[in-house]
Amino acid sequence: MLDITIISCLSDNYSYLIRDKKTNLIGIVDPSDFQEVDKEISKTYKKLDFILNTHHHNDHVGGNINLKKKYNSKVICSSYEVEKIPGGDIKKSDGEQFNLGKTDFKVIHVPGHTLGHIAFYSEKAGVIFTGDTLFSLGCGRIFEGTFEQMFMSLEKIKNLPKNTMIYCGHEYTKNNGSFCISIDKDNKNLQDRIQVVKNKMEKKLPTLPVKLSDELETNIFLRCDDERIKNNLKMSNSSKFEVFKKLRNLKDKF
Ligand code: ZN
Ligand code: FE
Repeated sequence: MLDITIISCLSDNYSYLIRDKKTNLIGIVDPSDFQEVDKEISKTYKKLDFILNTHHHNDHVGGNINLKKKYNSKVICSSYEVEKIPGGDIKKSDGEQFNLGKTDFKVIHVPGHTLGHIAFYSEKAGVIFTGDTLFSLGCGRIFEGTFEQMFMSLEKIKNLPKNTMIYCGHEYTKNNGSFCISIDKDNKNLQDRIQVVKNKMEKKLPTLPVKLSDELETNIFLRCDDERIKNNLKMSNSSKFEVFKKLRNLKDKF
């Protein structure tokens, strides 16, 4: 249905080359860097129909213009920040569809990191591209939006089917894991995952994608109502949102 190739870019970014098997239409999610992406396309499909951007930061759109020039691709991006997206062609708002051939994606507006941030979710393929909103064992920094917005954005992702595979914008898993375990030391699933991540990093393999069900058990930003986490923060009587805010502030200083 959907082939996905992970391309490492810059110091810790990931771009994802995607192909709809039925129609051979090709897309790239968040091309950070023209050269790395072009190298992969030259070796494989030799064409690029669509560029999909989750948000306007340069480490996610840096390759847009040169790729567009070379392959005559169309840029799909958030209608909420289209003016900041180099070469933006087709605007998408919350709930709208984008079809890569026979694979349909739903656009989910997930503000917080940036105000117009979107995620691309395909129920059929069982994947979501989350950009800098949800990371493996973490979540994005809040730059343009509010804590409330980021919290609600993560709630939207949390409610997707549990077997959804998450593809995010950065390789931050190891450091994120260190933060999670500093708060949630007795979480056996987290301890095990940290070991898996360590093994992958030693082999220089990506720690992604990750299944939503695994994130729900180990990513503290998705577990703000967990009693053990609340106790460790001495916030037993606080709301889920207050716990989230505390965690995000602690992570900024970690
Ligand atoms: Zn970003
Ligand atoms: Fe980024």
